[in-house]
Amino acid sequence: MVKNSFFLASESEIKSAKTTDVYFLRTEEVLKKESRDKLVAVEVTASSIRGSNWGVLAGIEDVLELLSGLDIDVYTMPEGSFFQEKDDHGVKIPTIVIIGKYLNFARFETPLLGFICSKSGMTTKTARIRLAAKKKSVLSFGARRAHPGITPVVSYCAYIGGCNGISCILGAEKLGIQPTGTIPHSLIILFGDQVTAWKAFDAHIPKQVPRIALVDTYYDEKIEAILAAESISDLSGVRLDTPSSRRGNFKSIIQEVRWELDYRGFKDLKIYISGGLGEEDVLEYVDLVDGFGIGSEISAAPPVDFALDIVELTDEIGNWKPVAKRGKFSGRKNVFRCEKCLKIKVTDWEIENETCDKCKINLKPILIKQIENGKRIQNKPTIEETRKYVLKQLEIIRKK
Ligand SMILES: [Zn+2]
Repeated sequence: MVKNSFFLASESEIKSAKTTDVYFLRTEEVLKKESRDKLVAVEVTASSIRGSNWGVLAGIEDVLELLSGLDIDVYTMPEGSFFQEKDDHGVKIPTIVIIGKYLNFARFETPLLGFICSKSGMTTKTARIRLAAKKKSVLSFGARRAHPGITPVVSYCAYIGGCNGISCILGAEKLGIQPTGTIPHSLIILFGDQVTAWKAFDAHIPKQVPRIALVDTYYDEKIEAILAAESISDLSGVRLDTPSSRRGNFKSIIQEVRWELDYRGFKDLKIYISGGLGEEDVLEYVDLVDGFGIGSEISAAPPVDFALDIVELTDEIGNWKPVAKRGKFSGRKNVFRCEKCLKIKVTDWEIENETCDKCKINLKPILIKQIENGKRIQNKPTIEETRKYVLKQLEIIRKK
């Protein structure tokens, strides 16, 4: 038995569908023994993008990695695509379509959904925070609120969703960026006083690391912010991580700190806030501060509820027949999206051209053939390309 003290699934266990639900293996056994395997078309649609009327699709690259090598064809929206649950006619929007013999991929349903439900949930929440934060800085501090085994995943979602920086070292390393952070309370506690701790940090940490003093350890935020401003010459900002028991009116505390700093000539000093902040807090404080540290709001974001359903299968003589369980729309579909307003229209398979009712321009087919007979046929986007794609679509949402 392989030693696995942390109870994590290994990459090879995921790739071999070891994390799947047992009923798929039983289904496979029955279908094999009864020779009932069929050529099917399945689609993946979202039944709920919790707390949002749009979502950001993430995890597609993992899905393609998972499915490559299986004798199937796979179509997907590109990684980072904005989508909705349904189009204007109430038709659920397919984000992934797989065509192939059912037994060639049945057991992969569970890990496939796991990848996109979890990653799309975190990325959607980050994008919503990015929107709420306007042009202000958003740093992901979520590593401490997630199982360490998935911290690079949290970092990936936070970064492509629009965070400016990531505090997790491994996450940043995998993204190819420098990790970003300030200082913990423990540094100040070990020194016994704030000024000595800030000065020691200033003396030993490379100059390119911004000097952002944590100003809520022992005294009032206002007192500590002034102390920091007056004692560290190249201070770039202060961070308020005010405990909830002391928060009272957080908005007033921030305004007071801003006033006191400005009054003493420290108008350039930035104010960052952190500590259990959510999307609502970002909306509330965005015009008062320069940046946010966000933790569990991203790393514990609710997953998007995607489901995979058979929508068409071949009969005994090889003809395709539309099929679907209750609540799902049968038949293979085309999915078009307006690149100007991001509205999605689902049509039947035969339709090849569609126009946006609002923008009066041709819609773009958004399901791209990614795997043909098991082989990946598109280039993998870089992380920066995916992030840029997300931010570009977010600008369209912002202007709506
Ligand atoms: Zn349009």
